[in-house]
Amino acid sequence: MTANDHISCKQYAGGVSVIDAGFGRDHMTACYMMEAGKEVAFIEVGTNSSTARLMKVLELRGWQPEDVRYVIVTHVHLDHAGGAGSLMQLLPNATLLVHPYGARHMIDPAKLEAGSRAVYGDKMYERIYGKLIPVPEQRVRVMEDGDELSLANRQLRFMDTPGHARHHFCVHDSLSNGWFAGDTFGLSYREFDTDKGAFVLPTTTPIQFDPVALKASVRKLVADAPDCMYLTHYGRVDDVQRLAKKMIEGVDMLAGFAQRYQHDDQRRQKIEAAINAWLAEGLKEHGVSLAKETCLQLLQPDVALNTQGLEFWLDHGKR
Ligand SMILES: [Zn+2]
Repeated sequence: MTANDHISCKQYAGGVSVIDAGFGRDHMTACYMMEAGKEVAFIEVGTNSSTARLMKVLELRGWQPEDVRYVIVTHVHLDHAGGAGSLMQLLPNATLLVHPYGARHMIDPAKLEAGSRAVYGDKMYERIYGKLIPVPEQRVRVMEDGDELSLANRQLRFMDTPGHARHHFCVHDSLSNGWFAGDTFGLSYREFDTDKGAFVLPTTTPIQFDPVALKASVRKLVADAPDCMYLTHYGRVDDVQRLAKKMIEGVDMLAGFAQRYQHDDQRRQKIEAAINAWLAEGLKEHGVSLAKETCLQLLQPDVALNTQGLEFWLDHGKR
């Protein structure tokens, strides 16, 4: 994207572009645009403030709003789906594709908004997300595990992938043999790329983290030898078998930290400190040359959210 330097957009081979949603910091949260024949799909839409960026990229790539056939959200957490209502209003021919457990939250987002306010607090919620806009029920289509559809020359296949959230599916693209993995395949920021490749860590956001289910979902994703994963946080990664192993180890580590400090008076601080120490060690071993403090600063929002999710799991989850 050279025509507009305020929007970061990069094209991968095979008609898939990654667009920075502008959520959090730069290159933290991605939306994807898929172009095929005469049709377009968006996968992940970011928040309300990402909508204008997606419409701008659509225009710069020479498409009309009418050309967008699908808007797909991997799950209904707001950094992925918060802008769905506002985007759908601008795309007259689009259908919103969503997990069976997520659909009602897109049609009536009141509960979703309340849940998110509880995690972030009202002040922060309003600053980062804003009012959620309902999507008319007739424009929402539920995609069950194993469902498929085509977008011109590509076949999209949907798979139920609980573990990060029960309302999470992943989408396989036949043309690039890659999965749009949402948060199921973890977080991998490009700042941590080295000659060893990408660095990945799981995300255990409240309130439905389930380590057993998450590991099973990761194994299912790599079972058919995909070539790549399109992560929402952030971008495409290859070398998926190595990363899957790291993901599974990471889920066990995080759950282990939570259990170790379950009955500690300073549970939150100790879990956070354990995660930070583990990440610092892992990043060093991976050959990341950024200073430890810089790395941990980049990861701070994720570590805080992971800790909250682990605590919720200790108090309410399946173990
Ligand atoms: Zn996310």
